[in-house]
Amino acid sequence: MDFIDLKRQQKRIKTQLDVNIQKVLAHGQYIMGPEGKELEGKLAAYVGAKHAIGCGSGTDALLMALMALEIGPGDAVFTPPFTFIATAEVVSLLGATPVFVDIDPQTFNIDPAKLDLAIQAVKANNPSIHPLPKALPAPPVGEGKGEGAGLRPSGIIPVDLFGLPADYDAIDTIAKNHNLFVIEDAAQSFGAEYKDKKTCSFGHIACTSFFPAKPLGCYGDGGMCFTNDATLAQKLDSIRVHGQGIDKYNNIRIGINGRLDTLQAAILLAKFDIFPEEIDLRQGVAQRYTQALSSRPGISTPVIPAGYKSAWAQYSILVESETRRTALINKLKKADIPTAIYYPKPLHMQTAYAGLGYKKGNFPNSESCAERIFSLPMHPYLNIQDQNKISQELA
Ligand SMILES: *Cc1c(COP(=O)(O)O)cnc(C)c1O
Repeated sequence: MDFIDLKRQQKRIKTQLDVNIQKVLAHGQYIMGPEGKELEGKLAAYVGAKHAIGCGSGTDALLMALMALEIGPGDAVFTPPFTFIATAEVVSLLGATPVFVDIDPQTFNIDPAKLDLAIQAVKANNPSIHPLPKALPAPPVGEGKGEGAGLRPSGIIPVDLFGLPADYDAIDTIAKNHNLFVIEDAAQSFGAEYKDKKTCSFGHIACTSFFPAKPLGCYGDGGMCFTNDATLAQKLDSIRVHGQGIDKYNNIRIGINGRLDTLQAAILLAKFDIFPEEIDLRQGVAQRYTQALSSRPGISTPVIPAGYKSAWAQYSILVESETRRTALINKLKKADIPTAIYYPKPLHMQTAYAGLGYKKGNFPNSESCAERIFSLPMHPYLNIQDQNKISQELA
C-alpha cells in the first residue's frame, strides 16, 4: 500500500501527459514557455483570483510574496509553529522575525484569539501578554523599518494545514484592525474552500506548492502566487526573474531565479484536467475514514467546521499519547500500511530557531499535537478494501 499513490493517477492521464510533454520538447521554450501562462490563467480562474504567478516551489512563492511586501529586519510576521519549516524560514531569510502563535487543537490552524494577543504583545513589547521571541538587536539607525528595539507587527502567514483553510474572516478582521498584510500559505490546500470561496483567494497574496505529494503536484518542484492586486502581481512577476524591469538585463529590484519550468507547467495542465474530480474523490475517502474511526475510543478524527471544505492533503488523527501513537504506527507497519508524522517537532523547538529563545510550554497545543498526531494513507484512489484494512488495524 502506498501512503500517496501517484502511479494510478499517472496511468489515468498518461496519454495527455505524453502529448503535453512532447509539445514542450517540440517548441523548446523550456523557460517561461506558453504552458506556464496557460496554467496561470486556468488556475487563477479556478481559485477566483485576478493574477497568478507560477514559480519554482511553494517556498519560492512565500519568499517572493514577502519580498513583494518588502519585509525585512525589524518586521514581525505572525505564523503558527505547527507547520512545515518553509512557512517561517522565508521570514528569517529576509531578516524579519517569525512570531509564533499557537494553533486551535481542533483544526490544527492558527488560533485567531491568540493571534490578537500576540500582536498586542509585540506592540507593547510585553511577553507577559503572549510568548515573544528573544529581543533581537535593533537595526542600525536608518536601516530597515525598526523603530527602536522592539519589533514592528507587519503581517500574518496563516497556514491551511492538511488542506483545511484557516479562519480567514477572523484573521482578516484582526489584520485590518492592526494594519497587517496576510499571506495565505495554501501549500497543502489547493482545491479547498472556505465559505464558498476557494483557497488561494485569501490574503494579499496566496501561495501554493506543486511538490509531488501536494493535492495538485507536478513531477518535481513548482509553486504559484495568487493576488487580486495588480501592483503586487507586477512586482511578483519581476521578482521571479531577478527583479527584471522592461527585460531581464534591466534590473529594478533584487529578485531571485524563481521561475516555474515549462515542463512542470505542461504536466500540471494534464493533472489539472482531472483535479476537480480528484478533490471529490478525496472527500469520499475522508468520509469513509471518519465513519469508520470517529467513534473509536482514544482516536480523534479531523474536525471540518461548517462552511469549510478540506483538500485533504493529509488525513491526520490524534491519539491519547505518544506511546499509543508509536504502538499503532508499528502495528500498521507490520501490516504493510505506511503512515507519517506531520509534524513531530514544532518550529519553536527546532534547533534552527533556538536563537529565538522560545521554551517548551510556550505553545502547548502545538506541542501536544506533535506528540500525538499521525497521518494515514490518503489519495484520491485509495480503495474501500485498503481503508477497511487500515481501520481494522487501528483497533
Ligand atoms: C510543502 C509546504 C511548503 C513548501 O512548499 P515546497 O514546494 O516544498 O517548497 C510550504 N508550506 C507548507 C505548509 C507546506 O506544506
